[in-house]
Amino acid sequence: MARARFAPSPTGPIHIGNIRTALFNYLFVKSGGNYNTMILRIEDTDLQRSSADYEGLIYEELSWLGIEWDEGPNRGGDYKPYRQSERLDIYNKYYNRLIEEGKAYYCFCTPEELERDKKQTACQASSPRYSGRCRALTDAQAQEYLKEGRPATIRFKIDPGRTVVFDDVVKGRIEIDSDTLGGDMVIRKSDGMPTYNFSAVIDDHLMEITHVIRGEDHLSNTPKQILLYDAFKWEIPAFAHAPLILGPDRTKLSKRHGNTYIGQYRQEGYLAEAMLNYLALLSWAPEGERELLNKEEIIEQFKLEKVTRANPVFDIDKLNWINAHYIKEAETARITELAVPYLIKKGLISRQEAEEKREWLELMTAIVQDSLVRVSDITDRVSIFFNDQFTPENEEALQVLKGEGTAGLLEKLKSAIEKAKQVDLEFCSGIFKALQKETGIKGKQLYMPIRVAVTGQCHGPDLVKTFLLLGRERLINRIEHVLNNYV
Ligand code: GLU
Repeated sequence: MARARFAPSPTGPIHIGNIRTALFNYLFVKSGGNYNTMILRIEDTDLQRSSADYEGLIYEELSWLGIEWDEGPNRGGDYKPYRQSERLDIYNKYYNRLIEEGKAYYCFCTPEELERDKKQTACQASSPRYSGRCRALTDAQAQEYLKEGRPATIRFKIDPGRTVVFDDVVKGRIEIDSDTLGGDMVIRKSDGMPTYNFSAVIDDHLMEITHVIRGEDHLSNTPKQILLYDAFKWEIPAFAHAPLILGPDRTKLSKRHGNTYIGQYRQEGYLAEAMLNYLALLSWAPEGERELLNKEEIIEQFKLEKVTRANPVFDIDKLNWINAHYIKEAETARITELAVPYLIKKGLISRQEAEEKREWLELMTAIVQDSLVRVSDITDRVSIFFNDQFTPENEEALQVLKGEGTAGLLEKLKSAIEKAKQVDLEFCSGIFKALQKETGIKGKQLYMPIRVAVTGQCHGPDLVKTFLLLGRERLINRIEHVLNNYV
């Protein structure tokens, strides 16, 4: 029975790297069947930077991707509260225990003193560290200073000359010299809040976490956390540090490389299942050749031990390829629903039209669905279906309209449409053959002028479907518009 947790800090929109951590936790939990538990813990001890809005975004993004959790702030569970800012009393108990056992102490050093220490030790030792000055204070002195109201932190003693060793599920054996850990570590800040390393250990222990799965950027925290586990004589969970995601230039994925927040992808019209599929492939690969897998298939195959050590590169082309695939596969009604906000924003339709013309919108979406990489791309693809008074897109289109025989051809097309009993599938599929017979024009010479006359463009979607979508009146409007202005 494994228990894993995703422990984000609500200090900003969720980064791609963090959401991949959430996903790996989730996949690990689910791959163990129904016995495992996924915990969502909100690490909001940075009061200045944390916000309820960002916390809300965490729920929103996870839910969007279909990453479910069993215990968490809005879900309850036997280990509540799941928000660290509500656990301060719990932390107090454990600072006190360490102080009583002589493993932690109050520190009254001022920022200036600490800065000076850092500089001095940086010259002597290989890494800068706290001098340990306040270790020497007696209990009585410390109490005296506290009474005076001096700002105080609490530090945990880290003795030099120790080697911390652990076996990371992903990285293998790691050995770290305690001399490199910066000296005695602050576990409670002067504002009374715990530091991340402290609260994470207390909570992981009390919440009976068996597997700590997180990003490689936390690898340097792990030895400090292990020393805390040792001090409390607590069992140490398994650690798995997933490698950092890089940009194409092999530096840490950042804004320079494009979108880094999961919400940005959601807003641009990436589908949740595409995103989930792609994120799973960052540092993990399924058996066999097939990379397009749904959530259940990924869960079935996922093994934490199979997470690779190499840093994955975020490859937008691959994500786009995966997204285009899922858009193609999706129900047109769903893509239409997702497309509506983009169409409204672009001013192509009103909110009311979006309701009233849903059937027409679906027909339109179906025409372009296979060519979409992101749902937001739809506005460019379908703009031709909205304005009957268009200008031909370029010189090439104009030249097509000016071509010999175009006027006659379009006149014939117009009158066929006018005379048709119905502009339905039968008519639209037959009209080109009929025109060919009547005029002797065929192939490109036939299709191109018609395409430009009804869409303004030389290339575009299927003409039969376009005819059906536009319908009699609008087809005639367009042909007349072109005849009057461009032919
Ligand atoms: N709050 C930490 C973060 O968001 C959690 C790290 C951990 O999983 O221990 O990076």
